[in-house]
Amino acid sequence: MSPKTGLVYSDEYLKHDTGNHPENSKRLEAILSLLKEKNVLKYLTFINPRKADLKEIEYIHSPSYIQEVREICQGGGGFLDSDTPVSSESFEVALLAAGGVFSAIDRVVARKVTFGDHVPTPWSARDGLYGVDDLDSAFCLIRPPGHHALREKGMGFCVFNNVALGAKYAQNKHHLKKVLIIDWDVHHGNGTQEAFWHDPSVLYFSVHQYPHYPGTGNIKEIGEGEGEGYTVNLPLPPRCGDEDYVYIFKEILLPIAKEFKPDITFVSAGFDAHRDDPLGGMSLTFQGYGVLTSLVKGFSKSIVSCLEGGYNLKALSESVLAHLDSLASRPEGTRGPRGKEFNFFSKGKIDGEPSKDVSPVRSKSPMATASDKYRRTSNGVKEIVKKIKGIHSNYWSFNEE
Ligand SMILES: [Zn+2]
Repeated sequence: MSPKTGLVYSDEYLKHDTGNHPENSKRLEAILSLLKEKNVLKYLTFINPRKADLKEIEYIHSPSYIQEVREICQGGGGFLDSDTPVSSESFEVALLAAGGVFSAIDRVVARKVTFGDHVPTPWSARDGLYGVDDLDSAFCLIRPPGHHALREKGMGFCVFNNVALGAKYAQNKHHLKKVLIIDWDVHHGNGTQEAFWHDPSVLYFSVHQYPHYPGTGNIKEIGEGEGEGYTVNLPLPPRCGDEDYVYIFKEILLPIAKEFKPDITFVSAGFDAHRDDPLGGMSLTFQGYGVLTSLVKGFSKSIVSCLEGGYNLKALSESVLAHLDSLASRPEGTRGPRGKEFNFFSKGKIDGEPSKDVSPVRSKSPMATASDKYRRTSNGVKEIVKKIKGIHSNYWSFNEE
């Protein structure tokens, strides 16, 4: 059997030239170099990305915005907003980033068609997506990232909203009905939230530092109209760590996902909540990302994960490795052959119990050192979870405390 986890990548992604900017091509090079060093590419099925066509980008973005990006790039490059540079090649690279997500979706959805979970659609039949050996999950090692990109505006290093486009593509081309998007980037995915604010078929779940860039994602932002209750925001104070995130996933995400029953799950996989990230204030470790991935795997038959942020090259590449390790390994409790897999990391014991022994550390002192960021604190996570259950119990059932 060939590996069940796919990897989307192309050297073309390096051509989005941002100069001396935290979101630069060295990020992908560092990740790829660690994957090669650890000899794990053989455990992954390579997926060649295609370019999205302009009609597909219009699933989310306005024609005028698409034209604007194209013209800026054709003119040699410039800025979409003060921190989102584009170069002459960026427009084409951004089409390849979104298209890479589409290529990944084609492969993970083919498996479902094969195994009869879905009635084959004329589209999938026509395109021959009936491989008996296709994928459970895929990771898109792409850039530019996407989750801040709004319908009319690129921002926050993002040009086109790759994950939001992927959700629309899964619905429009593969006729999947319910899409779950899990966004664990340290920043709130304002673009993705905007795209599905009124839409009950796409559930957007975001856990992020708050207040922080871009300023959205407070607890009361829950969607509107038909979409009310289908946007779930977990705004967290700085220094939350593995245990806090696992607790939140178990208490909020898992019950909602179980009830929602997504046909496909996307991860907006930013790794800037890692404790060593220069742009985030959280305390996750790479092992934590592995555990969160296992939890997502527990309820998702098809996972398409897309790189968003992550700006410390070592932390980023180790976290991606742990994420892939969890995606590609056999689900816990099962036996027998399941294709190639690898297991680098012992998961350790992260049981999701926020500590309650220390009072909050919110030192703004100039004497505060990096190690302050690593200190586990009682940061009110339990209280936040309780509040969220209060707000969302109108829409979802949760376990009683
Ligand atoms: Zn981010």
